[in-house]
Amino acid sequence: MTPDNGEPTGRVTPAPGSAAPQARTSTGSRPTQGTRLDSWIGSYADRTHGMRASEIRALFAVANRPEVVSLAGGMPNLAGLPMDAIAETTHRLLATRGTTALQYGSGQGDERLREQVLEVMRLEGIEAHPDDVVITTGSQQALDLVTRLFINPGDVVVAEAPSYVGALGVFRAYEADVVHVPLDEHGLVPEALDETLTRLAAAGRRVKFLYTVPNFHNPAGVTLSLERRPRVLEIAQRHGVLVVEDNPYGLLGFSGEPLPAMRSLDEDGIVYLGSFSKTFAPGYRVGWAVAPHAVREKLVLASESAILCPSNASQLAISSYLENHDWRNQVKAFREMYRERRDAMIGALGEHMPEASWTVPDGGFYTWVRLPDGLDAQAMLPRAITALVAYVSGTAFYADGQGSDHMRLSFCYPTPERIREGVRRLAGVVEAEREL
Ligand code: PMP
Repeated sequence: MTPDNGEPTGRVTPAPGSAAPQARTSTGSRPTQGTRLDSWIGSYADRTHGMRASEIRALFAVANRPEVVSLAGGMPNLAGLPMDAIAETTHRLLATRGTTALQYGSGQGDERLREQVLEVMRLEGIEAHPDDVVITTGSQQALDLVTRLFINPGDVVVAEAPSYVGALGVFRAYEADVVHVPLDEHGLVPEALDETLTRLAAAGRRVKFLYTVPNFHNPAGVTLSLERRPRVLEIAQRHGVLVVEDNPYGLLGFSGEPLPAMRSLDEDGIVYLGSFSKTFAPGYRVGWAVAPHAVREKLVLASESAILCPSNASQLAISSYLENHDWRNQVKAFREMYRERRDAMIGALGEHMPEASWTVPDGGFYTWVRLPDGLDAQAMLPRAITALVAYVSGTAFYADGQGSDHMRLSFCYPTPERIREGVRRLAGVVEAEREL
């Protein structure tokens, strides 16, 4: 049954206080998208009330017009991937193992791929067993599963201020109460975390986990310092709070070796999330979670009920990519490409926008720009789009409406020339805004 075809198979009882269901038309003609009424307005579960399109998704269509320089999206740049070689490996995979690749698979994920994931994580000091790993449909699904396992409506998730917009969407969907803890240029501030957890405990609030992106933060661009990592863990442990370490960018650092993951310092207090989206390609939608044994078992059950199993075709394609290509060298090439783009963006900000301030990321995709006093990133966005440049307003990255004094700029996708042009256009918009 869908509201879009045939007769409804159920009656709609409006919830108290909600609008009555709209009468359905019995003709075959469908009103256009913009005017279509929702016959099921009274039927939705309470938890859907917090669902809304992210500010980024709403921007997507307009920011993707070729004349707009988009500093908004977080799409990795795949131009450097050896497509012919990957096509050849994929062809061979289907020719030799096609009936496995196109079949259902294990709910926990392909065993060989789980072993290979261990190799990837070793670069960040993580020692684990293949049985600790669950393959997911991107780390986004892992976020959904963890939240589903732990959150009752009204439970608290503590998260950095600002936080990844896609995680906030999941937390909202499960009716979590997000409490933000400040970041500075060295990442999450441990003293502020301790204070917040103490205050929440005193108020009788149930904090279920700390959600953190320690490396090359989305959107803030900062990295949790080596010195703070054990302190954050100690504080979480002392308050009995699980840590969800979301780390899709950890191998994309611009200087030196990858920092040890928090998961390399603790096994029982952490659910670690990884992804092939930024180090290989997001289109296969393959990520993973590493969790303490009992949590891992529940994650598999939750994943099976959501999707039965992750895509075998995607997993085997990634597995044979890791087997047959120099993936370490590919990650190095990505790092160099993104570093050049970071340099273009930071250089252009220095040249054109001296009244603003920004973080200088040592990896990843993003810089976090604080606008000159009095400017509002959300209000300014339509004027930026008119000037053919797009960004994401800082308000997208908070659960509580803060952030209008910031914007996130991404340097991952456009060429360095386009980045410089985008920042030049943006500076013009900021300048005009200051004169309003
Ligand atoms: N976490 C963070 C911090 C991200 O930036 C993203 C993607 N932008 C994800 C999780 C989800 O990535 P994926 O599902 O592609 O693995």
